[in-house]
Amino acid sequence: MGRFDERVAVVTGAARGIGLAIATRFAEEGASVAVLDLDESAAQQAASGLPGKAVGIGVDVADVAGAEAAVDRVVAELGGVHVLVNNAGITRDNLLFKMSETDWDLVMNVHLKGAFAMTKAAQKHFVEQRYGKIVNLSSVSALGNRGQANYSAAKMGVQGFTRTLGIELGPFGVNANAIAPGFIATDMTDATAQRVGMSVEDFRAAAANRNPVKRVGHPEDIAAIAAFLCSDEASYVTGQTLYVDGGATLV
Ligand code: NAP
Repeated sequence: MGRFDERVAVVTGAARGIGLAIATRFAEEGASVAVLDLDESAAQQAASGLPGKAVGIGVDVADVAGAEAAVDRVVAELGGVHVLVNNAGITRDNLLFKMSETDWDLVMNVHLKGAFAMTKAAQKHFVEQRYGKIVNLSSVSALGNRGQANYSAAKMGVQGFTRTLGIELGPFGVNANAIAPGFIATDMTDATAQRVGMSVEDFRAAAANRNPVKRVGHPEDIAAIAAFLCSDEASYVTGQTLYVDGGATLV
């Protein structure tokens, strides 16, 4: 018996990286999974590799009407919705004096408006059935990071959003929590290595050296925490942000 038998989980940005690991973990533990991503064929390809029932749906999470239509499609195709993981994300790093308005808006839209749009669409079902689990992806960058004024503002915004969801939705049987990962080895961090002119190996080794456990994180490290926070074992936890960073923010 899996912790997510009879549950339907929606994971955004799940065609690759952390989202794909989370989708895989839910599927392995019995959930039917909706893989949402910008590119529908990439989402469908990822869904086809999951064990159990899964669908891939193309959506830009920052498009409010599109997000609502995607959730409607999940309910129609998988028979309901019980878990939402707002994972879709992008970076557009630059020092503040060089940061364009477009890059500010893009990052705000994907992380904040995207989480708003998806959560608003899903909460309707959660409140009606008096059951729902929400996990939002924040980041250690929420605490401030050179070159990420847009991203750190959005990721701290995610934490405030999560606390408010905890307050508003708790009385309706809905838990909302956030995960703030440290360095996780994915395409996103590989792209940062390229941008700063380092090899992926050196960039990862430097990141590993900056935390007490002396290794980088992997998508599966985040998936395990997402599964716990969305399980009924965590039903007394809400509005929290859990830093999953090998202790990087301790030092
Ligand atoms: P990733 O490998 O770049 O994957 C992100 C996924 O989100 C991609 O498939 C991307 O699609 C999709 N996406 C982007 N914009 C979207 C939109 N508007 N609508 C729907 N899907 C969209 O990133 P990751 O490293 O797995 O990161 C996942 C989450 O964790 C993000 O929120 C990120 O900010 C957060 N995080 C990551 C790290 C880390 O070290 N990796 C650390 C802290 C927090 P395309 O491929 O089409 O662009």
